Amino acid sequence: MNVQNIVVIGAGQMGSGIAQVCAMAGYSVSLQDLKQEQIDKGIGIITKNLSRQVEKGRMTEEEKQAVLDRISPALDLACAREADLVIEAAVERMDIKKQIFAQLDEITPSHTILATNTSSLPITEIAAATKRPEQVIGMHFMNPVPVMKLVEIIRGLATTDEVYQTIEDITKKIGKVPVEVNDFPGFISNRILLPMINEAIYALYEGVATKEAIDDVMKLGMNHPMGPLTLADFIGLDTCLYIMEVLHEGLGDSKYRPCPLLRKYVSAGWLGKKTGRGFYVYE
Ligand code: NAD
Repeated sequence: MNVQNIVVIGAGQMGSGIAQVCAMAGYSVSLQDLKQEQIDKGIGIITKNLSRQVEKGRMTEEEKQAVLDRISPALDLACAREADLVIEAAVERMDIKKQIFAQLDEITPSHTILATNTSSLPITEIAAATKRPEQVIGMHFMNPVPVMKLVEIIRGLATTDEVYQTIEDITKKIGKVPVEVNDFPGFISNRILLPMINEAIYALYEGVATKEAIDDVMKLGMNHPMGPLTLADFIGLDTCLYIMEVLHEGLGDSKYRPCPLLRKYVSAGWLGKKTGRGFYVYE
């Protein structure tokens, strides 16, 4: 299938990164969000990222401008009327994703593939909100999108081979490495990563060590590039909590119960780097 127009829904940390890499690969991109301030923030981050590429001599000023010109901001979902592919990167909540997919099913042409960047929610259940479950697929990018190579591609129960192949080809075209995964809670990445982060939060909660000590042990002892509490702040503590809830409910094992301290931070609005405070404080 020939994909030219891509719509990205949600201009947060992930959506802005996805819009950037798609536009850099030559696609026309609409970046849609409910809030103008989020779109402005997203475009601001993309502009900063591209300017850094120009400074490093990896891109000319003209190329940077051409990439930015390929990204159109949108507040209305009607921008998906001419989409060949939609990549949804709104908040990690099943009710919101189902609502978006049901609307997209009404708005988009019949050939449009509907992909979700969900970190953990069942693709099959999101697909069931549409009348085209065979064209719904998971496209799980890693944070920060312009830097990280992996995209987990998750088939729903009804996803066709043709749709899978189209998404695998696009993933390669935008310079990423696709890895095929089946539809289970948390897929591979977050089935393994999030319980480790949750355990680090438990260690802090139980007073086993300070946050700095916990992060140091994992950095210096396990060669992780950043500690689990810093990583949680980068992911977003709300997203971490949603993923743990999906694992807990979906796999039905008490070993996945979210740490009460994680819940407390989310209730306080301490969501990590994106709100200026999580386990650490950010300027
Ligand atoms: P974020 O909070 O930075 O951004 C979410 C954006 O979605 C916000 O700008 C919000 O205004 C917008 N939004 C909410 N409801 C919307 C709607 N109905 N229509 C349009 N926009 C809407 O979150 P994020 O970290 O970018 O995460 C987005 C998605 O990507 C989630 O599903 C998350 O699980 C997934 N994800 C996150 C990470 C990560 O490390 N943060 C990694 C991989 C996947």
